[in-house]
Amino acid sequence: MVPMEHPFHIEISRLRLAGSLPFEAEAFPSFMDLESTDPLRYEGKIHVKGKIDYNPDTLHLHLTLKATANLPCVICQNPVKVEVEVRDVHHVEMLDEVLGLELDFGDFVRDSILLETPQRAECLGKCPERDTLSKHFAKEKSIQNNPFEGLELDSD
Ligand SMILES: [Zn+2]
Repeated sequence: MVPMEHPFHIEISRLRLAGSLPFEAEAFPSFMDLESTDPLRYEGKIHVKGKIDYNPDTLHLHLTLKATANLPCVICQNPVKVEVEVRDVHHVEMLDEVLGLELDFGDFVRDSILLETPQRAECLGKCPERDTLSKHFAKEKSIQNNPFEGLELDSD
């Protein structure tokens, strides 16, 4: 469960009455609840928009999720901004598994965004440091058998 307060929930009684409700809300990036050691960060707001349908046994969420991730470039370690969008994702909740008066779908939002966030990023799709490093690799390769040995040594 996402432990902190977040706006990603809806009252079951309101939903039952309406049959279908539009949904739109934003949360601060602290909502993503990442480990403090995680190099991945989110900035701006986590944005969720779509609709939720009430059926006799199930609740259907149709949502588009947006977030801005920030992770270090795999080559130069500078922060890289990555727009994350999960378009029109469909999620079904069994009504008899919903505890309490509200459907809380914070975990679903968080997990979907994490799944869509790339694990690696490179600045502007091509790090300016890449050429410097590949030249270095090429040189190393001709001298040594392990071209990756020089990777951590190269700081200039
Ligand atoms: Zn870079």
